Order: sequence, then C-alpha cells, then structure tokens
Amino acid sequence: MKALDELTFDNRFARLGDAFSTHVLPEPLDAPRLVVASPAAMALLDLDPAVAETPVFAELFGGHKLWAEAEPRAMVYSGHQFGGYTPQLGDGRGLLLGEVYNAAGEHWDLHLKGAGQTPYSRMGDGRAVLRSSIREFLASEALHALGIPSSRALCVIGSDTPVWREKQERGAMVLRMAPSHIRFGHFEYFYYTKKPEQQALLAEHVLNLHYPECREQPEPYLAMFREIVERNAELIAKWQAYGFCHGVMNTDNMSILGITFDFGPFAFLDDFDAHFICNHSDHEGRYSFSNQVPIGQWNLSALAQALTPFISVDALKEALGLYLPLYQANYLDLMRRRLGLTTAEDDDQKLVERLLKLMQNSGVDYTLFFRRLGDESAALAVAKLRDDFVDMAGFDAWADMYKARVERDGDYSQEQRRARMHAVNPLYLLRNYLAQNAITAAESGDYSEVQRLHEVLSKPFEEQPGMEQYAQRPPDWGKHLEISCSS
Ligand code: AMP
Ligand code: MG
Repeated sequence: MKALDELTFDNRFARLGDAFSTHVLPEPLDAPRLVVASPAAMALLDLDPAVAETPVFAELFGGHKLWAEAEPRAMVYSGHQFGGYTPQLGDGRGLLLGEVYNAAGEHWDLHLKGAGQTPYSRMGDGRAVLRSSIREFLASEALHALGIPSSRALCVIGSDTPVWREKQERGAMVLRMAPSHIRFGHFEYFYYTKKPEQQALLAEHVLNLHYPECREQPEPYLAMFREIVERNAELIAKWQAYGFCHGVMNTDNMSILGITFDFGPFAFLDDFDAHFICNHSDHEGRYSFSNQVPIGQWNLSALAQALTPFISVDALKEALGLYLPLYQANYLDLMRRRLGLTTAEDDDQKLVERLLKLMQNSGVDYTLFFRRLGDESAALAVAKLRDDFVDMAGFDAWADMYKARVERDGDYSQEQRRARMHAVNPLYLLRNYLAQNAITAAESGDYSEVQRLHEVLSKPFEEQPGMEQYAQRPPDWGKHLEISCSS
C-alpha cells in the first residue's frame, strides 16, 4: 500500500511534446471536499483506501496541490460530432495530470475533469458540475463491475465554487483513470491538419504502449486497427446486451482502447426500448439504443480514414468488415448466457429477437426480466413472468420455445442454472432515477446516498440484504427523466 505522495509517475504522453498537448495548471475549487471515492480504483494505484479521507486527498483532486512529478497537460484532438467534422476540439475542461504506474507495472492516466479553462475551452468555463461528475463516477465504476470495459473513476471532489448552467450549481472534479486517454479524434486531428510526422509519432506511441503484440505482425498498423475494430465490436455487444445507451458517440468520445469513454446523458434502459434516445438534443436519434451498433462501425470508418496514410484502403475495408460479424457473435453469446443457455443452436438469434419484440411491446423491465428468469426453473419462471406481458399468447408461444430449448440445452440442476444466470444477470443497475436520488441528496450536502449507491453497484450480481430498494423498477417520476446535456 502506498501513501499519496508515493505514486510513481512516467508521463509518456507529455513527452510527445507541445504539438500534442499544452501545459496548463488546474484551477482550484473553493473548499474542496470528498464526495465519494472508489476503493477498487484506489487499489489500482496501490493506494490505501483510508487516504481518501485525508485533507490532502481533496486538495490534490480539487486542484490545490500537485505532485512534483505530475505534468498537467490539455490534449488536442478533433472529431466527428453528430456526423459532422469539428476541426478542433481538445481537453476543454480536463487535464491529463500524468501517468502513474503501479506495483504490477500497469500504467494509469490520471485525468482531472472540471479543472478549469484550457486553450481548447472554446466558449466553455472549464468546469464540471456536481451532478455530471457524480454520474460519470457512478457509471464508470458500475460498468466495470458489470464486466463492461470502461474508463475508471477514482473520486469526486465537491466544492463551493459557483458554476452557471441553466441555473447556478456547484463545481466538482472527477478523477478519471484509463490506460490511455487517446481517442479516435486524436488520429483525425493530425490527419485533417495534415501533420504526417506527428501522426506517425502518435501511431508509434499507441502501437508501442497499447498494442505491442501487433509489432510481431507483418503489418503492425493494420494489426492494431484490426484489434481496435475487434475491441469496439466486443464493447458495443456488451452495451447492447446490458441495455447501456452512451448517448454521444462522437468520434472524440471513442477510445482507441475500446473502452466506454466520456459520459454525458447516458442511460441504462429500464423498460426495453430498441428506439430509446437518452440524449434529448439528439433529435434524429442518431445515437438511439439500436443505432449504437451501426454507429460503432461508422466511427471506426472515420478512424480508418485517418489511418489511410499508413494502411491501404483495401486492407482497412477488410478490417472494417470484421466488425459486424464479430459484434453479432459476441452479442448472441452474451444473450445466450443471459438466457441461461450453455450451447449454441441456429435458431437462438430468433429466440432473442422474439423476446425483445415482446418486451418492447409490453414495456417490460429489461434487467429484472433476466434476473427473474433465473430465480426459478424455466417453467416456473416463465409462468410468473407472463403477467408482465400484454400479448400473453405471444409470450406463451415464446415460453414454449424457450422451455424446449432449455430442455435440449443440458441436464443441470436449478441451483446450477440459477448460479450461472445470476452471475451474468445483474440485480442492481445504475438506473437514472437512482442516480438522480443520489444527486439530489448530494446537492444538499449529503453524500451518503452516492456512497451507498456506489457500493451497491460494485457488486451488481450479488443479492445484498437490506438493499431491495435499489432493485426496483423506477417510480412514475423516474421513468422518463430528462437528463440535462449541460454538464
Ligand atoms: P463532450 O460533449 O463533453 O464530450 O465535450 C465536447 C467538447 O467540449 C470537448 O472538447 C470538451 O472538452 C468541451 N467542453 C465540454 N464542456 C466544457 C466546459 N464546460 N468548458 C470547456 N470545454 C468544455
Ligand atoms: Mg467528450
């Protein structure tokens, strides 16, 4: 275990130089205080969880203090936003404080979001408000606990600093961690500004640090791109299987590591709705739940375009062709597991599609359905679940198919089936209304609800006595919350 001043830095991105990022110091928050910390994220830095309670912790992550070895930098990038190219973006309110490596030799970028203005702030104030910082913190850690790759979050620091959005709010900072903060938009920036030397440096950097095994391949850059395609196909399969809607899949919010990145008006589905749009400024539904699949491919093509100086167009196209089949295979595999199946049959796709259609038509809770399906034998479970469906005859027909399929799947006890299904079907999920309750309390100075929710969501598959209220469908007020896009 390390004390806070014992972190070891090795700032590899900063060393790429001023063409890639600008040195900026964090702008401190007034009266910084701990809102919540993640012991699991702290463990990744070998930090003793107790240090989160010390004043120096809030000072470090509230922008008042810096390690001598930290080199805070605002990164430059660009990207396609809602399909249109924006030539220059960048860290407008976040700073890469530095790269830390732990005892296991793993590197973690420490990124402080809400740290004040930078050369890339455009019209923005460089700040992040408490509610959006809490949402990013809870979502990062909850996704990780579900087994969905994501950037991590170490802590949220609250403050008295006034920040103006639709109304006056309070500023906060969230300390985000990821092995890399490089986005598709980084490659696009150097491609569209026609800086081949810097682009080559960036590509070498990513290859050496994050895809070293691709060096062994005859065409290392192509191998790296293929790997990025694969990781994104796997990531989006997980989003779709668990009902996660990102909301702002611009290419500047896509990580070259294939992890969930940059949280805005995201939402997990309550009722299953393929057409769900969580971002209220997304009038055309470009980033609706089901569109995440083709948009993943669209974003990868935007990255492919930026890689044309290194890889032939034919090879890029071929690699892009891997996306959809891989997505489908991963998605079906996850859905089979959610249904408790251990074998594969040709008609499984149909089984899944039919179920989702029935759920869609009846507004069935996506998460609780799968959890309850494993609670009891297939026959008993479907007999209870049928009440949730308006089209009962339709559900009965599906249930017959399902029971027969389970029968053919194998000879296992209900105990085995339940254990297997509960290990992949969460009971607790970061529903918007749960986040909202925690935020309302935090905005009036009570952080205990954020902390409790974080703790419950860190073990989403495990039934936790006394926490039944976190495993409920939303009350009426919480069903269609409009999450503000300002953050
Ligand atoms: P986002 O929609 O959060 O992914 O942000 C898009 C771009 O706007 C990024 O370059 C952000 O750094 C920048 N940005 C968002 N909010 C602010 C803010 N309050 N101040 C400065 N820049 C911001
Ligand atoms: Mg962003």
